[in-house]
Amino acid sequence: MKVAIVGAGIAGLTTAWSLTKRGVDVTLFEQGPIPNPLSASGDQHRLMRRAYGDDDGYSRLITEALEAWDELWEDLGECHYAGRGVLAFNQFPNDGGSRFASSLKRGGFSFETWSPQEAAERYPYIDPNRVRRVHYMAEGGALLCQKIGASIARWLNENGALLRPETRVTAVDAAAGKVVVEGGEEAVFDKVVVTAGAWVLKLFPELAGTLTICRTAAVYLDPPDDLKAAWDTSPAVQNVGGNVVGYILPPAGGTELKFAAGVNKRLAQDPDADRIAAPGEGELLRDLFVAPIARVQEYKVKRVVTCAYTFTEDHRFYSHPKGKALVVSPCSGHGYKFGASVGRRVADGVLDGDMDLLLRWLRSEEHRPRQPAMA
Ligand SMILES: Cc1cc2nc3c(=O)[nH]c(=O)nc-3n(C[C@H](O)[C@H](O)[C@H](O)COP(=O)(O)OP(=O)(O)OC[C@H]3O[C@@H](n4cnc5c(N)ncnc54)[C@H](O)[C@@H]3O)c2cc1C
Repeated sequence: MKVAIVGAGIAGLTTAWSLTKRGVDVTLFEQGPIPNPLSASGDQHRLMRRAYGDDDGYSRLITEALEAWDELWEDLGECHYAGRGVLAFNQFPNDGGSRFASSLKRGGFSFETWSPQEAAERYPYIDPNRVRRVHYMAEGGALLCQKIGASIARWLNENGALLRPETRVTAVDAAAGKVVVEGGEEAVFDKVVVTAGAWVLKLFPELAGTLTICRTAAVYLDPPDDLKAAWDTSPAVQNVGGNVVGYILPPAGGTELKFAAGVNKRLAQDPDADRIAAPGEGELLRDLFVAPIARVQEYKVKRVVTCAYTFTEDHRFYSHPKGKALVVSPCSGHGYKFGASVGRRVADGVLDGDMDLLLRWLRSEEHRPRQPAMA
């Protein structure tokens, strides 16, 4: 069986990994380098977390997600996960920090709750006057995306997949299984998996009603010297509480301190437009964290990274079979942590053809153990 994959973000890379493992002849097309820093998967790190607000379905799927990452680390011979645990700050009733605790309680998962003073003693970057309580869960942490991307690419090269970086696909003929690349070269495959992230509408414009493109940014910061040691050992901060939907990735495994906030997201028409941060954008983003991060204005802005990604209306992941093509969109701002499990499930769908099962699983409506499909 010959399968083309369009897009080498985490979804494309892991689908290629899982299919290659099962003896499938895989060609992976990527318009930029692999990994591509402009992809949603191309930043330094992403959060792994169990608590999922009101969405217990995705919370339950974290068990499969972690197990799939373990399978990947085993194959790669190296682990790119800093399992430091996660914090959530509660500033006022029913904010993200409070929903963190409710989510874990409903699922029966254990976590600790600290007073503001106790939290600030452990992590002095916290302003104890701006939080009511701080929750900590030992499970979770930071996935080191750039290392993961480079490592999977190396594994694919060593295991017989054909990687085509700097090769933009200009058209997919779903009925014929044909892929056309810039310059006019064409090739026919048994299946074409399209994991094109925010660029998907350029190939499948009919999905514009279902998938929306957004642009956001994250800021890399240099903390004050006396707080560096606290950040160097800090868990990831899943939610800073309040109403900015802010989260923080600490330095881990060679990465840097990063702040990002959901309120910073805006609609975009073109994933390649508006990719250079505006003057002062980093400071504005940083200052959203004035509560509950102490002395936030002493943090120096190192750089701002922009990102384009897709959303569905209900924020669930999406797949769309069409002829020999299968479009997969595991994003809505929370898909990285499921990366290895998405790749395995998409590969199962390609091999056993059960598209309903794949969509139900992607929507977190299917929790039965996976039955791996063979090539
Ligand atoms: C700021 C931000 C923070 C996030 N934080 C988290 C988090 O903490 N935890 C979490 O789990 N998730 C998080 N996410 C979501 C996560 O990053 C995405 O779910 C995931 O990276 C999506 O991967 P993907 O492979 O679907 O898309 P992408 O990573 O965007 O990959 C798509 C690839 O396809 C390539 N491509 C597109 N069109 C073509 C073409 N025509 N020809 C060839 N190649 C093409 C692109 O160049 C790109 O490399 C975050 C997202 C953003 C933007």
